[in-house]
Amino acid sequence: MGFTGQCRCGRVHLQLRTETLAPLYACHCLDCQRWSGSAFALHMLCSAQAVDVSGDTLSYSHAHDGQISTQYACGTCFTRLFNETTAAPGMRVVRAGVLDGAERLTPMAHIWVARKQSWVSLPEGIAQWPQSPTPEAFASALSEQTLTSTPPPAALD
Ligand SMILES: [Zn+2]
Ligand SMILES: [Zn+2]
Repeated sequence: MGFTGQCRCGRVHLQLRTETLAPLYACHCLDCQRWSGSAFALHMLCSAQAVDVSGDTLSYSHAHDGQISTQYACGTCFTRLFNETTAAPGMRVVRAGVLDGAERLTPMAHIWVARKQSWVSLPEGIAQWPQSPTPEAFASALSEQTLTSTPPPAALD
């Protein structure tokens, strides 16, 4: 299974090489609402080696929950593409909305629904937490996936 993706202006391209569909979840926290200028963020957890980037990116690093998160954006149009964090070494958290065919993806879990905008209704039976779940609860919700050591997802963005 693979994905391609790109920024708004098309100068930066992503290529994802994943054996299985990478875990996808929505985060409704205030930080994600601000980052995205929208109601929530869609995060796809990928192995860093599986994410190839071509084109010039800018990065921005900041401290978050005691970890350092580095965001990567297109250097021309500033579309935020993915981030890396010391909370999850070896991974890249891709902003899934930049992927081609993203309209066919369905999040497996929703976190920080305490901050969810009231007009957003979630499907029955979908895994969700008011804030950040424990790593164990999150891993079990994404149980089709192989996540051996999952940090708290809210610390990943
Ligand atoms: Zn761009
Ligand atoms: Zn968030």
